[in-house]
Amino acid sequence: MNRQHVGVIGAGTMGNGIAQVCALAGLDVTMLDVSQEALGRGISAITASLERLVKKEKLRAEDKDLVLARIRPTVSYPDLRGASLVIEAATERLDIKLRILRDIEAVVSDDAVIATNTSSISITQLAAVLNRPDRCIGMHFFNPVPMMELLELIRGLQTSDLAHDQALAIAQAIGKTAITVRNSPGFVVNRILCPMINEAIYVLQEGLASAEEIDVGMKLGCNHPIGPLALSDLIGLDTMLAVMQVFHEGFGDPKYRPAPLLKEMVDAGRLGRKTGQGFYSYGGR
Ligand code: NAD
Repeated sequence: MNRQHVGVIGAGTMGNGIAQVCALAGLDVTMLDVSQEALGRGISAITASLERLVKKEKLRAEDKDLVLARIRPTVSYPDLRGASLVIEAATERLDIKLRILRDIEAVVSDDAVIATNTSSISITQLAAVLNRPDRCIGMHFFNPVPMMELLELIRGLQTSDLAHDQALAIAQAIGKTAITVRNSPGFVVNRILCPMINEAIYVLQEGLASAEEIDVGMKLGCNHPIGPLALSDLIGLDTMLAVMQVFHEGFGDPKYRPAPLLKEMVDAGRLGRKTGQGFYSYGGR
């Protein structure tokens, strides 16, 4: 029997993580990005991550190359033909995602499920760009994908039971625990998490405490495994800002106003770990 073929659009933080977990579960993966450079960075990140698994004795050294061989990097949409599921995990911008979803639908079969890993854009709105919106579903992974067990499956207004059940089957095959939620800005987890992080940035901006103290406070006072500012560096401050802007516009409620310091950090190009500088500095870049 042929192995199941999954497409992943975007080789960035999330895309390469999704490609890795799918390949580790034995699926064939086509990973598509706009340039060979972006694909090269994605493959390097996956290689480094698999090497860490080997070191921790969670993966046999001889299996590393087998897993890598299941991931085919490409810049060409026709390479997605034959995929039963394509997961869009590109830059969080509506115009980019709408175009990608149309490009996917133009090459995959009628029964393929088209999923998006958006953090904040309406699944119903994204699905509406497709000829078959019923095949579209949100598959919202958490960062870092290989470590985080949760997957939010988000049903848009038109998502079919079939698309949902197929996405759920893949979630289980790749070892994730899924919760199914209804489409709404931020879905469930980010709806609760991101305003908390935004509030931590306000607290920093108002000079109530240092970044380290805020993070220690939330770690030791609330038993969070990581402080909100360190977590925002991990998520990426540009992604954080985009999410808060969607909440602010989507609910029309001033309680979701992005912290001005968050906007200023993004304007300065301090996007967190991925640029080497966010609320903390990360050496080596
Ligand atoms: P990223 O910036 O690390 O990677 C985005 C990738 O998309 C880049 O490699 C870029 O070259 C590629 N890209 C841009 N335009 C493209 C196009 N037209 N076609 C193909 N590839 C294109 O971003 P990320 O953090 O991986 O986020 C990706 C998606 O996942 C976003 O929708 C984000 O909201 C969502 N998400 C992010 C997190 C997180 O913690 N970072 C968590 C859950 C969901």
